[in-house]
Amino acid sequence: MIEDARQLPEDTLIETDLAIIGAGAAGITIARELAGTDIQICLLESGGLEFEQDTQNLYNGENGGRWYYPLDSCRLRYFGGSTNHWGGWCRPLTPIDFEARDWIPHSGWPITRADLDPYYLRAQPVTETGPFRYDATAFWEELIGAKMLPFPLGLITTTFFQYSPPTRFGTRYRKDIEQATNVRALLHATVTEIETSETGAEVTGLRVATLGGPSFRVRARRYILATGAIENPRLLLLSNRSQPAGVGNTHDLVGRYFMEHPHIPSVANLVTSRPEAFNAAYTQHLSLADSIMHSALIPTDALLRRERLQQAVFTVGVLGVYNTENLTQPATDDELHLRDIFNLQRDLGPPRATDHPPAGYNDWPPAGSLGASCAMGCACEQAPNPESRVTLSEERDALGLRRARLDWRLSETDKLSLNRILHALAEEFGAQGLGRVHLTLSDDGNWPEEVLGGYHHMGTTRMADSPENGVVDANCRVHGVDNLYIAGSSVFTTGGASNPTLTIVALSLRLADHVRTQLS
Ligand SMILES: Cc1cc2nc3c(=O)[nH]c(=O)nc-3n(C[C@H](O)[C@H](O)[C@H](O)COP(=O)(O)OP(=O)(O)OC[C@H]3O[C@@H](n4cnc5c(N)ncnc54)[C@H](O)[C@@H]3O)c2cc1C
Repeated sequence: MIEDARQLPEDTLIETDLAIIGAGAAGITIARELAGTDIQICLLESGGLEFEQDTQNLYNGENGGRWYYPLDSCRLRYFGGSTNHWGGWCRPLTPIDFEARDWIPHSGWPITRADLDPYYLRAQPVTETGPFRYDATAFWEELIGAKMLPFPLGLITTTFFQYSPPTRFGTRYRKDIEQATNVRALLHATVTEIETSETGAEVTGLRVATLGGPSFRVRARRYILATGAIENPRLLLLSNRSQPAGVGNTHDLVGRYFMEHPHIPSVANLVTSRPEAFNAAYTQHLSLADSIMHSALIPTDALLRRERLQQAVFTVGVLGVYNTENLTQPATDDELHLRDIFNLQRDLGPPRATDHPPAGYNDWPPAGSLGASCAMGCACEQAPNPESRVTLSEERDALGLRRARLDWRLSETDKLSLNRILHALAEEFGAQGLGRVHLTLSDDGNWPEEVLGGYHHMGTTRMADSPENGVVDANCRVHGVDNLYIAGSSVFTTGGASNPTLTIVALSLRLADHVRTQLS
């Protein structure tokens, strides 16, 4: 059932079993999973069914630190949350991502990839992706009918992404929520405070406001905070009536360790006289096995361990193809390399986006190709950094609440790690006579200005076994608070180099299972 909270009488008290705050990928997944059970659920969503500017303005915030998108444009505040404009790239975190890597301070989840595997399997249909076969090279090679690049030095390997259509959770799953008799979804319901007992050990209720309408309260046996990794810490910090530092913040960890995946559209240019060596999955989306997939390149675990590096993922974007018309001389690697690569790019026209809709894959390489110029784009892992954080700004929103302030910080080691992996990429391309790689980044620890985020907000209520190291435990329960859980990528201990939403959905399914046992 979906209702508009603006129609409620002032000061209504809603009593329920489970209150879920936020109806994005995480909140909707949990509510759907528990639909049809005996558990009474109240799903509180700040926005309506469509975009509304006055609600979106509640997401305005302040940026400190390195450049980041305005906080009201990097997420969406209505039913379905940021899945209303996500890109749909899906890939699980890898087993090494969960490990405590002694070369990455603060790494090490209290759960393993094997713990999440059953939930990743269940997350595939939720995100409308195909089989859970992300690193199954032989499986994809057979379907494509071509081999992946061999990488003889063992430094680099191929990985596989799948694409959600992309599933707009609000549209796709609206009916499920409407028809669930045990779910009461309230729109235009902004939670303004999580109230706790005096000791802070138990949540006693939620204060909820509407813009220009009534305020009311919700009391539940269990609460799940699912408002995204900037808003989750904001709401915990704002809830400081009985706990001056905010709920769950005994150890000053709430909001710290904000992580993104630094994205650089072009970290290297590759000029190759063997475009056919890159099978079509490297250069375009393919529709295979009930999925849309795409190959990308990653460092091997052996390289990461041996050289103590962080994750990175590289995509190949074709800038131009040389044939007898645009290149009159026979193309050898050396000849191609001798031409100024940037002039080649200019001569050969605008870059071809890597994320256009699936194409028939027989068009790669185009007939008569003698060579190709490609831009390598990358997204990399940022090591957890306590100084990279979300705090409260002095400015207030329309409901009188202090806005979020984001201070995104990258470190030198993040960049040095990327540099080394780029060299490994170049060594591997050279070793298989694939072409020449021109690295476009400086070789020091300085990040270029043009680093972007991937709209992946992570780490601000991190998971750890002990309250000294994290905000939530392995079950996503806030340390020291009996009945409060957190869903979403704010619980990520580290972020790997995989897009977060598949993992958010897997963790949400796991949390739904856990809460079901608690409330049954
Ligand atoms: C442009 C863009 C492209 C992206 N592309 C990808 C991609 O390709 N792959 C990928 O994996 N991820 C991608 N993402 C990230 C992805 O959208 C998020 O990881 C995902 O939506 C997070 O889910 P969530 O439920 O944690 O938060 P959200 O989806 O942000 O949902 C949070 C919900 O909480 C509500 N809310 C907030 N505050 C309150 C409050 N106080 N009270 C009540 N409700 C509240 C909001 O209105 C919202 O509906 C992209 C994001 C953007 C912006």
